[in-house]
Parts: sequence; structure tokens; C-alpha cells
Amino acid sequence: MDKVEEYIKRLEDEEWNVRSDAARALGNLVDSRAVGPLIKALGDEVAYVRRYAAKALGQLGEPSAVEPLIKALGDREKRVRSDAARALGNLSDPRAVEPLIKVIGDREKRVRRHTAWALGKLGDLRAVAPLIKALGDEDGDVRKEAAKTLEKLGDNPRAVEPLNKALGDEDWMIRESAAYALARLPDMRVVPALGKYYEKHFEKEKAEKLLREVIDRLAPLQRENIQHLPRLLCITCYRRPIVKKMKIGPLSSLKYAVCPQCGTSALARDIREVVGVVDGRTGHEIHDDTLYVRLWDNTAQECVYADIDRLEIREADGLRYDIIVNKLILTLHDRSGRGQDYLPGIPVQLLGNPDIPLGTRSLLEQQFREVTEKQ
Ligand SMILES: [Zn+2]
Repeated sequence: MDKVEEYIKRLEDEEWNVRSDAARALGNLVDSRAVGPLIKALGDEVAYVRRYAAKALGQLGEPSAVEPLIKALGDREKRVRSDAARALGNLSDPRAVEPLIKVIGDREKRVRRHTAWALGKLGDLRAVAPLIKALGDEDGDVRKEAAKTLEKLGDNPRAVEPLNKALGDEDWMIRESAAYALARLPDMRVVPALGKYYEKHFEKEKAEKLLREVIDRLAPLQRENIQHLPRLLCITCYRRPIVKKMKIGPLSSLKYAVCPQCGTSALARDIREVVGVVDGRTGHEIHDDTLYVRLWDNTAQECVYADIDRLEIREADGLRYDIIVNKLILTLHDRSGRGQDYLPGIPVQLLGNPDIPLGTRSLLEQQFREVTEKQ
């Protein structure tokens, strides 16, 4: 019997402290054989054992533990509930988002705090509104965790909108909390929104001072961004930014880079080249300073837009390259803000031996800069 088997056996021991020690040890050993027995231990009669089982399942990283841990969010013992929340954060499975949002109103502050943390790990924008509410929590630690989480979610440009909306909430605590969170986002869109908010709720002098603080925090970041300009990219829309100017006082203005699609100025730096890829998969990857974006979603049969510098069409099973190339040309052409020169500037490389009909091949040659092949 090896160590893992030994501890699994101890999970059935008569002494509860032997069982909880075994659960703890199994978490550190990270062996998937322990998943089933640990899920069973989530139903142990002693809360300590259930806690360590929840923690261990978070360490093991097996998706099959997600549902049992969601169930443990309803445990009668607060420490089990909070450890289950943390474990779900560590597992980062989107199934946990809605159940966690439900327990952010738990009667125990410890549970609320760990839940706010877990929602940050999951990074799902459905959590923005409940987290704004949690900024008004009676407990300081919960408020702090919620603020930290919102700041993290704020890296996602779509977080600005729900926060902006919350500035108009009838509950002043929610308004203030949203303003607090917005003031920490690296996004120039918060400036006009907060300016209006401060103007409405504070005296002129105080309002100006508050806005000045926000700008003073944003300005160095924007100046740095401008220095990185050719390598900036909005990682949500896959677009190169444009430069805008904002008046920030009677005599001064600030240049800043902004995504022409979503309007965020929270941009990725050091993306030298964007490569569009057709290979039947979805999502993007960054290697060194190159971003590879999958342009064709074969399930949705749709194209993703990106400001690409070159295109790679790879050999993959089950792809209709004639349909894909047609849609790709339309998408890149229609949605680009780069004008007529965009497509003729992009080189295309065929990798492996993609099954491209002759007509499609000549379409590629007409529309793009050149077509080369690589085995
Ligand atoms: Zn964008």
C-alpha cells in the first residue's frame, strides 16, 4: 500500500482527528485517486474533517469535485462553507459562479469574504453587481476583499459599464462603493463618469479635488501606454488602439490610447505581432511578444475579428475552407477600421496541407498580399 492508499484508508478511521489529518495530507499529495474518497468525506459527521476535505479538493484541481463543493456551500458549519468557497475559487470552474453569487449574502462574514475572493479568481463579470453590493458590507474585511476583486475584474473593459450604472443607484452606499471601485480602474472612461458623479454629490472644490486624484493616478499609466503605442492591443477585441486626447483642466490635456471597439484604455503591452490562425480551435495564446488568435469558431460557424499582421491557415479535419475563407474575408474587410489597404497588406501562410479548393486559393491570392506554403 502506498502513501496515498494509506491516507485514503485513514479517511475511514474511527478517530476524527486521524480522518482530518488524512484529508489534509491527501490535499498535499495531489493524487487524483483521492478525489472520490475526499468527496465522500465532505459528508463526514465532524466539521473539521469536512473542512479539510473541501480544502484538499481545491488543491487537487479535479472538475468532478465542483458539484459536491457547490453543495458544501450550504453546509451548516460556517468554516466548511468558507473553505468550500475558497476551494471553488481555486478550481476556477464557471459552474461555481452563480452558486457563489448566492452565498455572497451569507450570514457569516467569513463566508462572505472568502466568497468575494473566490469570485475574483473566477473572473466572471456576472459577479460585478453583487460585488458592488458587498462593498457596502457591514464588515470591513468583506468590503476590502470585494474592492480588491472589483479592481481585478476591472481589468476587463466590460466591468466599467455595470459600475457606471451603479453610480446612479438610489442607495447612496452602492453609489459610493461603485465610485470607489471606478476610481481604481485603469480606464479613461471613468473620468467623465466620475466627474459628473462628484459634481452632483459634492461641493465644487471637493468635486474638483476628487477628480484630480483620479486623473493623477491615471495619467502616468496613460503616458507609459503612449510610449508603448505600436505594441499595445485590446486583448478583448483584438484591436490596436487609437490615440485620443482628453481635456483635464483649463490649460492641460492628456493623450491616451483607447480601443476603437470597446473604448477601454486598459490595454495589453508588448504585443509586437498579431497572427490570425485558422485551425478549428478557438481562443488565443501569447508566445513571447506574439499573439495567436483563432479566427474561425467551427461550432458557431463564425469568424472572430482581429487586427492581424499575418494569417496562418492550418491543416485540420472537418473544416470547410471555402466557406471559412469567404466569411473571413468579409469579416476582416467589413469590421476593420483600417481601410482598403488592410487585406492586401496581410501575407497568408498555408501550414501542412489544408484542403483548399482551387477557387478559394485564387480568392486568397487576389485579396491578400501573397500566399505561401509550408509543410
Ligand atoms: Zn476593446
